[in-house]
Amino acid sequence: MNGHFAIAIDGPSGAGKSSLARRCAEAFGFVYVDTGAIYRTVGLAALRRGVDRRDEEAVKSILPELAIEMRYNDAGEQRMYLNGEDVSAEIRLPEVSLCASDVSALPAVRAFLLEMQRKMAREHDVIMDGRDIGTVVLPDAELKIYLTASAEARAERRLKELVNKGVETSFEEVLRDIRYRDEQDSGRAAAPLKAADDAVTVDTTEIDFEASFRVFCAVIREHLGLLPREERA
Ligand code: C5P
Repeated sequence: MNGHFAIAIDGPSGAGKSSLARRCAEAFGFVYVDTGAIYRTVGLAALRRGVDRRDEEAVKSILPELAIEMRYNDAGEQRMYLNGEDVSAEIRLPEVSLCASDVSALPAVRAFLLEMQRKMAREHDVIMDGRDIGTVVLPDAELKIYLTASAEARAERRLKELVNKGVETSFEEVLRDIRYRDEQDSGRAAAPLKAADDAVTVDTTEIDFEASFRVFCAVIREHLGLLPREERA
């Protein structure tokens, strides 16, 4: 414990981790750290350079040339920079998602990004989401939540998000990508996606965003004794 609180949220793609974490960060005054965005930035770099994303030596050889920075704008949004360029929008493209999943299976990539994530937690009260936050990055987090939902429910939500952003895709395609990432993220040897033994599991298959947020508030209150800012006296 270093004087800061940490909440770790892990779970499969599209379970709502980032929307819920962002909302909780606002409500409770934490800094939200989206670790998927960091892996996406490495994935984008590999894609742009045309390296074989499954070849650990090839990907490892580009890492020293990557300056990856996470900055927060005035609205508190996390922006990602790759060698000085703001790549926050580009890392959300579906092909970058798959690439991020590929490079994130490489131990060299995970080791390269570990300290960056831990540093954030040493310096701020964080709510951090990813796949291995409660198990590897912050095993001493004060609260760990494993957020999940059926693959179909997650695909439906992800499809809406992508359509809103003007990305052309279909339910089948989104579901296929989600299943690909589920298998890869859970099946890999390095820091596979799994619930920490002491995580609280929240399943959002049957509940909407607002109801999920209320569940999070109740869990945070029970485990950390904290209330959202608007409910504090
Ligand atoms: O969370 P998001 O979908 O943005 O993450 C993109 C990819 O990065 C995931 O599919 C996963 O493979 C990888 N990732 C990871 N560990 C994390 C966060 C993301 O392996 N802590």
